[in-house]
Formats: sequence, C-alpha cells, structure tokens
Amino acid sequence: MAGRCHVILIGPQGSGKGTQAARSAPRLGLRHVATGDLFRHLMQRDDELAREVRWYYDRGALVPDEVVLRVLLQRLDELEEDADYRGALLDGYPRTRAQAEALDAVLRERNDCIAAVIHLAVPRPVLIERLGGRLICPQCGATYHRQFSPPAVDLRCDRCGTSLTQRSDDTPEAIARRLETYEQQTAPLLDYYRARGLLIEIDGARPIDAVTEALVEALQPLLADRP
Ligand SMILES: [Zn+2]
Repeated sequence: MAGRCHVILIGPQGSGKGTQAARSAPRLGLRHVATGDLFRHLMQRDDELAREVRWYYDRGALVPDEVVLRVLLQRLDELEEDADYRGALLDGYPRTRAQAEALDAVLRERNDCIAAVIHLAVPRPVLIERLGGRLICPQCGATYHRQFSPPAVDLRCDRCGTSLTQRSDDTPEAIARRLETYEQQTAPLLDYYRARGLLIEIDGARPIDAVTEALVEALQPLLADRP
C-alpha cells in the first residue's frame, strides 16, 4: 500500500472546525474524513463493525477507542480504492493523547504519515458567544444564530414560523463545562504533537474566509512534494 500523508484538525465546538475542514480539504487534495459522518454512514450498514457499534449505542455506552479507530481505518481502506486519493483531513479523531498514540501505531503499520496537526484556536469568550447564540426550531430542526444568522422575524422560524428555542445544552454553564472538559482533554494531545514538531496553530476567531486561506496557506507547502 502506498504511504499517504494525512492532516489532523483539532478544535473546540464552535471553532468552525467542520466547516473549515470541508472548505479546505478539496483545495489541498485531501478527503475530509469526519468521525461523526463515519458513524452516521456506518449505522446504515449491516456489517460486523456496524453491529458492534450498534451494540454500544443500544446500551447507551461510549464506543471504545479501539472500535472508533477501526471505523476510521475502514474508511481509509475504502479511500485507497479511489484513484485520486492522496490523504485524509481527519476531523474528530484523535481527541485524546491515548487515541493519538494508537493512531500513530496503525499509521506506521500502513506506512502512512501525519503531515501536520492544525489546532484551530479560538478564545473562550468568542466560543461562548458563538455557542450561546445558537437557536433551533423545535418543529423543523432549522438552526439559526442570534448574531450571525438570525431569522427574518424576531425569534420565529423562517421556514415554519415556530418560536425558536435555545438548545438545553447551550446554557452558559453547560457551555463553560463542555469547553473546560475539552481543554483538559486536548492540552495533552496538543503537547504530544507539539513535541513532535507537527503542531500548527491557526487563529480561528477570524472570519470564515480568512481562516480557510490561512489553513490552505499553512498546509499547501507541506503537502506539495507528495508523490
Ligand atoms: Zn421551523
């Protein structure tokens, strides 16, 4: 199997990580591999791995790291069948240092490498503002934001007119708690990649286009000399 070079994107909820991955991957010749999407697709299958993951879901249990990694590897194997596949932009994995170490071990076996790890850094007050302003339509599921994408008529859904609500897990206390957990988990992960000279910090507090440009600019030279 030919060696592929992947990029890992790390960022908190509200950093725009998924959006930035989707926007920059095609420009970098990478496939956007989002762990959340992998699991949604997997649930539509009925292979052994899907049945194993469902076993945890049915019990409301956390899917073990080792299984998550197998789901990711299954996707990387599928991508190998694609003629123009050169590497993946990983979004959502690894989240912890232990996951990073496990990923390193399997990438070595595959003769793959990590070209860079991007940390999309956004100051906590900005994240709290972004996450705290999210609104959802309880009727049709449409999402809005108080400042960034408000509905046309005050607090009513553009599509169906229903009164918008805030998600129950978007209270300031809940947001602060989630960010706290994220920072505790992520600090050792960032240290791990920083020590290996792979970490690139990108300021994710800027407008969407500026962040995408910064990402592409930082990564393009690192991916240019690939086979
Ligand atoms: Zn609606």
